[in-house]
Amino acid sequence: MTAPRIGIYPGSFDPVTLGHMDIIARASRLVDQLIVAVAVNQDKGPMFSLTERVALVEQALQAEKLASPVKVLGFDQLLVNFARTHHANAIVRGLRAVSDFEYEFQMAAMNARLDSQVETIFLMAADRYHFISSRFVKEIAKLGGKIDGFVPPCVAGALHQRYGKGDKPPLTEAISG
Ligand code: ADP
Repeated sequence: MTAPRIGIYPGSFDPVTLGHMDIIARASRLVDQLIVAVAVNQDKGPMFSLTERVALVEQALQAEKLASPVKVLGFDQLLVNFARTHHANAIVRGLRAVSDFEYEFQMAAMNARLDSQVETIFLMAADRYHFISSRFVKEIAKLGGKIDGFVPPCVAGALHQRYGKGDKPPLTEAISG
């Protein structure tokens, strides 16, 4: 019997978007088991805590029918070590545009240098998701815009709760003063 192919999809997922969900669905067709690895990333100053980000991915996954089992774990260590602990064969990353490439290329090269056994595979989401990023979704939600087409319903709920549905954020002192 051959060993199961295990993939790891790491990221901040702050919060998970439909772009991420599309990559998860595609990756689940390529491996026997997928681990969505949510990075603590404290230095990026995430909006949602690690527990919240993990819970939102889990909730979003409940509505999906995926090709192989997907589990969601938080991590706060070197990715290649996390991958090795979980016997992963591949790290999955998503590519949106040329702008992602430089950073992703460097990261894949560093990881390959740290562990030559682990491959990085890049997947593209469907073109209707190419423009979606967690950062812009947060900006739009903050300014009271509609985000339903960009994120799973549980995330839209969490963002609306954070900002108050449809309410504009209070003007900053710099603007009002
Ligand atoms: P990170 O902080 O590690 O970049 P993100 O949560 O922003 O974490 O992204 C995780 C991965 O998902 C990255 O490889 C990113 O390029 C990819 N990704 C994010 N949004 C999309 C999207 N809309 N389409 C395709 N890939 C995406």
